[in-house]
Amino acid sequence: MSRTISIEDGITVGALADELQIPVTKLIGELFKNGIMATVNERIDFDTAAIIVEELGIDDIVLERKVVEQVITRSKKNTNGEGDARPPVVAVMGHVDHGKTSLLDAICNTTIVRGEAGGITQHISAYQVDHNKRRITFLDTPGHEAFAAIREHGAHLTDLVVIVVAADDGIKPQTLEAIRFANKAGVKIIVAINKIDKEGADSNRVKQQLSENNLLVEEWGGDTVVVEVSAKEKTNIDALLDMILLVSDVEDLRAVTAGPASGLIIEAHMEQGRGPVAVALVESGTLGKGDFVVAGSTYAKLRNLETTLGKPIDSASPSTPVVITGFKALPEFGNEFRVVASEKDARTVSAQNARDSASVASKGAMSGNELIRIINRKTELKEFNIVVKADVQGSLTSVIDSLKALDTEEVAVRVVGSGVGAVTEKDVHLAGTSNAVIYGFNITASSTIKQLAARDNVPMRMFKVIYELIDDTRAELTKLLPPKVIKTDMGRLIVRGVFKITRNEVICGGEVTKGKLVVPALATVSRDGETLAEVEIVGLKRGPQEAKEVLEGEMCGLSFKSASRVDLKEGDVIELYTQEVIQRTL
Ligand code: GDP
Repeated sequence: MSRTISIEDGITVGALADELQIPVTKLIGELFKNGIMATVNERIDFDTAAIIVEELGIDDIVLERKVVEQVITRSKKNTNGEGDARPPVVAVMGHVDHGKTSLLDAICNTTIVRGEAGGITQHISAYQVDHNKRRITFLDTPGHEAFAAIREHGAHLTDLVVIVVAADDGIKPQTLEAIRFANKAGVKIIVAINKIDKEGADSNRVKQQLSENNLLVEEWGGDTVVVEVSAKEKTNIDALLDMILLVSDVEDLRAVTAGPASGLIIEAHMEQGRGPVAVALVESGTLGKGDFVVAGSTYAKLRNLETTLGKPIDSASPSTPVVITGFKALPEFGNEFRVVASEKDARTVSAQNARDSASVASKGAMSGNELIRIINRKTELKEFNIVVKADVQGSLTSVIDSLKALDTEEVAVRVVGSGVGAVTEKDVHLAGTSNAVIYGFNITASSTIKQLAARDNVPMRMFKVIYELIDDTRAELTKLLPPKVIKTDMGRLIVRGVFKITRNEVICGGEVTKGKLVVPALATVSRDGETLAEVEIVGLKRGPQEAKEVLEGEMCGLSFKSASRVDLKEGDVIELYTQEVIQRTL
């Protein structure tokens, strides 16, 4: 018989030992083995406690996260056979102008009865459509940076990505970025080749390009589902929806529908006359009227529930996007929400969340302002993404502060996630989806986590001395700095005769009129003050003899290599220089 222990977000070491009925020294020892130096009165977070219980091999105890007086069992969205079937959550991504918006509009307008919401005119962040008596949830993704912010939640938000590629334009950088994103997040891809009605449309070329990027289409023996559509003519939209359902059936998407709801805030804005308006995506449980919903540091009592198309509903089950009004303050995009038992609990939990977020220098979830800053920032800035975990709050804050102090105009540290306690699976997922390095300070990782990180190629570095951690980050930032090139002018040759010209090599003779010529060197070839080519000097001859250098006033032979043919003529000028590339330091 297994026993369930409910703990709040954190528990002291002593209390956990009591609950587990083991000597506290054994628990402290196990924590120590995992790199956490904690005394009997120190608190460890839920994730750390769960890992330690697993490491101790106690399998007759189930840890549950308790929120104030109410137990919330946050179930994963895909519970592999457990829970109830739920609609897939689909994001549509692709290069700008390839028809993402048009496709979403076409899907929306062909499947949602017009008039239901008084016509679809305004932008909506998420909506559900019915197809073959089943439901699909579409997310209108708010740009890739914002999407990165919600990846913090383990990339479980999206089940499937539809990548739109214009048939007349083919694969572009943002298409590749979308492919990379979907692959990293481990979600299935369906490719919609759009604009097939257009002159110049070439679906085969797109399929070829897809195969060059490891997406071999089904008709060529691969497993990438491709649907050729026209958003403009509304061709094959049904076939695309069929495919979305087919692919999600294979994934067997499930969630627990019973119990209090939890999920994510996917949009929040102020509206005149309504105050804070948020769109929440239910991940598990069922949201109903009268519920108290906490999101970050704010909460709401649900008086009304409506779909994103403005239709009133009584309840919302997993994968349903729903509009929530009545929040005391504007929640943040990416906030997790959950239902608590009473207004008193809502007040307590939201206040606790406010304290937590104030005490951590940088949380994984980005605020709206931070997103705007990232979007508007000059592209020159190169960033080094990190996830930081430390043994206690104090050291976490000082590690983050010290690392942020390394920032310059050109390179910066971006903390995509941070927390106190052992490295968790969520940290590894977050680091994987945001190309980050995990830094652990005064902690270690369990073997399961090490294996996961190795499998996902996520670098994980543990330090016990803060200066060593800072030095490692400095070294990473240094690698991102563009190197400094020092150019030194050497000498000048005036061409007096051309002996041989091939496609990329020239042999000539001339007089050194300034400085000295050396080999090897680089050179600029010019005629009447205009640059003809940048070349590489490969040989110098004084008379018949090879020479290493030739001085001013001397005659010499010179040969150079160039990327393309240089039709050198008598009177042209060759100016030699050397170049030294120096790696800069911070
Ligand atoms: P987004 O930037 O990916 O959201 O692209 P839009 O949906 O704004 O579409 C970009 C342009 O392509 C617009 O002028 C659309 O009218 C046009 N477009 C989109 N889909 C199609 C299509 O299937 N056929 C044709 N001919 N044009 C399309």
